[in-house]
Amino acid sequence: MLYDQHLHSKHSFDSETEPDDNVRRALELGLGGLTFTEHFDTHADEWTACRYDEARYTDDIARLRDRYGDRLFIGKGIEICYQPQNARVILDHLEQHEFDLVILSVHWTRRGAIHQRRGWEELGPVGGTRLYLETVLDAARWANSLGEQHGRVFDVLGHLDLARRYAHRFFNHYDPNDGADIVDEILRTCLAAELVPEINTSTVRAGPGRPMPDAPVVARYAELGGRAMILGSDAHRPEHVAGHFGYAVPVLRQNGITGQAVYRHRRLAIETLE
Ligand SMILES: [Zn+2]
Ligand SMILES: [Zn+2]
Repeated sequence: MLYDQHLHSKHSFDSETEPDDNVRRALELGLGGLTFTEHFDTHADEWTACRYDEARYTDDIARLRDRYGDRLFIGKGIEICYQPQNARVILDHLEQHEFDLVILSVHWTRRGAIHQRRGWEELGPVGGTRLYLETVLDAARWANSLGEQHGRVFDVLGHLDLARRYAHRFFNHYDPNDGADIVDEILRTCLAAELVPEINTSTVRAGPGRPMPDAPVVARYAELGGRAMILGSDAHRPEHVAGHFGYAVPVLRQNGITGQAVYRHRRLAIETLE
């Protein structure tokens, strides 16, 4: 049974999808469950728009569980954007509300939002990718140190090499080995922090046609002792729920990752990937 544990609905600023439509799609596909991970971005430029309404979101999850909960697991998650200057706001939000899964994702570097071309101009595809990965390493270290002070704060590291989507989009460049030295440190930090990496299939559907991360990174994670990852479609529309999981599962298995990490009430269970 597969679980899609990274997807969005109308509770995120960049999606208009009715959450019911995501659930119905997951049922059609025979998923074991789906976990909504709505955006929570505290960057000053995004704060007004990029936050979901906690009360409405919680109500919707309760309603969906009533309606469909006997047929599949419906998780309430959150995708927190890495903004360490706002640690207090983030920690307070996580303490005050209940989640099944908390994803930490990097969408910004010191050059700006990763999806905006101007931050890439001087750096080029490899330099821009390295800057992104360095920021992800900072994020993983931050998660580790917060975890030491507060107990685990984040469960999953989202799309750890998202920069490859934009290196491809802006420069038609794709090499999953760029920044391998930094990726190594990210993966070691994940293992130390109990931060499970995601394999994100949104770039199989659009972009370089490969998941984030790709086979070499998955293989390296297994080599370093990783056992499981989460699968995430990052769907913003129902037709993309669990998109290309049939492609990603062999990438995991053939590179030594035989477990699917599944989170309920912030607790990790590892299910064998068939
Ligand atoms: Zn994201
Ligand atoms: Zn997302």
